[in-house]
Amino acid sequence: MGKKIPFYEEVKDKVRCRICPHNCLIDEDKFGICGVRTLESKVPIAINYGEVTSMGVDPIEKKPLYHFKPSKDILSIGSFGCNMTCSFCQNYEISQGKPQTQYINVEKLIGIIPTIENNIGVAFTYNEPFMWYEYIYDAAKGIKESNTDTSVVVVTNGYINEEPLKKLLPYVDAMNIDLKGYTNRYYNNICGAKLEPVLETIKRCSEYCHVEITTLLVSEENDSLEESRQIAEFIASVDENIPLHLSRYFPRYKMENEATKIEKITEAQNEAKKYLKHVYVGNVQGVDNNTYCDNCNELLIERNGYSTNVFIKDNKCPKCGKEINIIL
Ligand code: SF4
Repeated sequence: MGKKIPFYEEVKDKVRCRICPHNCLIDEDKFGICGVRTLESKVPIAINYGEVTSMGVDPIEKKPLYHFKPSKDILSIGSFGCNMTCSFCQNYEISQGKPQTQYINVEKLIGIIPTIENNIGVAFTYNEPFMWYEYIYDAAKGIKESNTDTSVVVVTNGYINEEPLKKLLPYVDAMNIDLKGYTNRYYNNICGAKLEPVLETIKRCSEYCHVEITTLLVSEENDSLEESRQIAEFIASVDENIPLHLSRYFPRYKMENEATKIEKITEAQNEAKKYLKHVYVGNVQGVDNNTYCDNCNELLIERNGYSTNVFIKDNKCPKCGKEINIIL
C-alpha cells in the first residue's frame, strides 16, 4: 500500500527525499536507493506501508538485545527495502527485492501483541525498519498510545536523518544498531553508505532509549584489532555501559571471503573489553555469553543459546549493589 513520505522537498518536477542521508532526488515513476520510495502522479510515496514479508516470535536475545527484558519473547516483523547494499546481507531477498507480502494494518498489529504468551511487544526487524518508516512510526505511536507497557524495539543499520529519527524516538524503548565498521572505505565499498551518519544516530538514540550495538566482523575487511579498538573507543565515548555484540561473519550473498576466524573474534572481544563493560560474541558456539557484574563478577544472567536464566532482580547487582545497564 502507498503512503505519503513525511520528509521531503519539492525540487522542480522531482522530490528530494529527506528520510535518510542518501537524500535521493526522485523522478516520476523512479525509485530512491531503498527501492521503496517513489514519485507517483507527483506525490512522493513509500510503496511498502503495512506490507509484511516476515513475521515471527523470537527470543529478545535473538535481536540481539541482552540487556533489555532478558528471557522474554518479542513479535518480530519486517517488510522489504533497504538503504544499504551490504555484500554479505543475510536477508537480501527482502532487503534488495520485492517479495510477496501480506497487508497488516496498525490496528490488527496492535491486536495481535497481547495474544502471544511471554511477548513484550513488537520488534521492527528483518529488513531495514527505517525504510518502513511511515508504517513503523504509525505502529509505534499506536502501540504506545494503547499501552505504554508494550515494548517497541527497532533493529537497524542506523542510517537515518535527524528529523525523522527524533520524531520516532519517543515511541521506541530499545534499539540494536549496527556499527558495521569504523572506516568510510568499508561503509562505501561494502555497504553503499557513509560512517558518520551512523555514529550520529548512535549518539542520538543513546539519549532516548536503551541501545545495544552489533558489529559483524568480516574476515580481511573489518576484523583488525585496530578497527575493533576504534569501535569500542567510540561506543565508550558515548557510554561505556552500552553492550557490544561482535558477530562472526560467514560467506553470504555476494561476499565470498572465508568465515572469520574464531581467534579474531576472541581477540576483538578482549580488546573491546578494555573500553566497554559488556562485550558479547555472536555466531560462535560454546562461548561464555553470560552477563557478569563489572564490579564483583557476580553472575547476573546465564545464557545457553537462547535459553536464559536471570538472577538479577532489578538493575543492581544482588551481591555488591552496583548499578547495571539492564532493563528487566
Ligand atoms: S529513504 Fe530511500 S528514497 Fe529516501 S533518501 Fe533514503 S534511500 Fe533515498
